[in-house]
Amino acid sequence: MTTPLAERLKRQIAFSGPISVTEYMATCLFDPDLGYYTTRQPFGRGGDFVTAPEVSQMFGELVAIWAVLAWRDMGRPTPFVLAEIGPGRGTMMVDILRTIRQVDENCASASQICMIEASTRLAAIQRETLNDDAERIEWLAEVDALPELPVVLVGNELFDALPIRQFFKVGDQWLQRMVSLDGEGELTFATGVSSLAGPDLPDGEKTEPEGAIFEMAPAREALTETIAARIVRDGGAALFFDYGHLQPGFGDTLQAVSQHRFVDVLENPGEADLTSHVDFAALAAVARHAGAETACLTQGEFLTRMGIVERARRLGTAADAASRERIERDLDRLVGDENMGELFKVMTIYPGQARPQPF
Ligand code: SAH
Repeated sequence: MTTPLAERLKRQIAFSGPISVTEYMATCLFDPDLGYYTTRQPFGRGGDFVTAPEVSQMFGELVAIWAVLAWRDMGRPTPFVLAEIGPGRGTMMVDILRTIRQVDENCASASQICMIEASTRLAAIQRETLNDDAERIEWLAEVDALPELPVVLVGNELFDALPIRQFFKVGDQWLQRMVSLDGEGELTFATGVSSLAGPDLPDGEKTEPEGAIFEMAPAREALTETIAARIVRDGGAALFFDYGHLQPGFGDTLQAVSQHRFVDVLENPGEADLTSHVDFAALAAVARHAGAETACLTQGEFLTRMGIVERARRLGTAADAASRERIERDLDRLVGDENMGELFKVMTIYPGQARPQPF
């Protein structure tokens, strides 16, 4: 299958040479005319993938409880900013705002709501989803535009969408992985010239086999640094869910998903979601370097400690048998080891006094 973006990339590569995996990923996801997030409606059952807030309202409800507890532990600063970065359709913020109003009126009225979204098209969809609340929400394009106040910042599946760099092991060198053209003029992976040195690689680099892959994500690290520095300066706490690993390592985790199925990464640029696993250890190191503290749990542990089992039971009591079954299924999708519970991790970044509950 070919796509308009594939044709454009092939022309570009034929004309000016191979591009890095980073450029390929950034173009596929965010090209202003043909990028995935700029042109498509990826989320939900009719889209390409279902994220945790789209699985069940329980997810956003427990994130809201986390935010209220974090705000109280911070000494109830008034006003404060409650922000979400990368809100997709805006579903989680709907659940968060409803819940905060129910559990803590003071927290609700102290909050200034901000949505940080890179795609203007998705920002417009979020405005629709948020409906009446949209009037009191400010949409921003980047973290630096947040008001200078203590901030409680949350994000789900944001980092996996930020581009990565990949390196191939060739002999005893690690060379950058590129996207080039094969003999038929189709997109293919190739080896570039820039290389990585030992200190930039995790332990065990020497025993990795020929062709092994190492990933690093300067865009994720830069964003983490900005957020950590902001939290150290103005106070607050952040909470990020993503699929990934807590220990650094080797391996190719770049993947493309279209209509709920894995597809070839190079096959339909601009029309499939491209992501890679998040290296939480690398992001935690960056946050600590900026003066913040971090802690991590699996999504399953976090949601269980926040009381999702009790919440599911409560929702089930008032529901009919079919809905009860659905709630059970959703619960298992969010916390089950075979589902999102184990693969997804959650990291908090905080200024270093009290560690946010339930970490
Ligand atoms: N949180 C949502 C959507 C996840 S997809 C959910 O769980 O359903 C990733 C989202 O992050 C999209 O809304 C995308 O447009 C946005 N995004 C990607 N890079 C961003 C950046 N640098 N700043 C803000 N938003 C970004």
